[in-house]
Amino acid sequence: MSISCVRHEARTAMLYCLSCDSPICVACSLSTHCDHQRMDIAEFVEERLLLLRGQVVDVQSQIDGTRRASEQLIGTFITASAPESRTYPPLKKIPLDKVPSAEIL
Ligand SMILES: [Zn+2]
Ligand SMILES: [Zn+2]
Repeated sequence: MSISCVRHEARTAMLYCLSCDSPICVACSLSTHCDHQRMDIAEFVEERLLLLRGQVVDVQSQIDGTRRASEQLIGTFITASAPESRTYPPLKKIPLDKVPSAEIL
């Protein structure tokens, strides 16, 4: 995977300018961005990925929390509708595996 420079599409961005929030090539790094805070593009991508993975874990745990809460709710409901009021058809359990789970990138 290669990212092209924000100003020169034909050139591969070797660096990432943190000041401009843009991928830049070596030439740009030496001219326009020479006073800016830059870092290696590979390192930058790595950091971004770690950040995104962290967010995925967060979402996952939120989903787990919601799942637990809805299971509790279903449990309460079943207990409340037991057994003398059994004129209703059995409760259809919500297919919890249908909850979208965020895949690791
Ligand atoms: Zn450039
Ligand atoms: Zn810059």
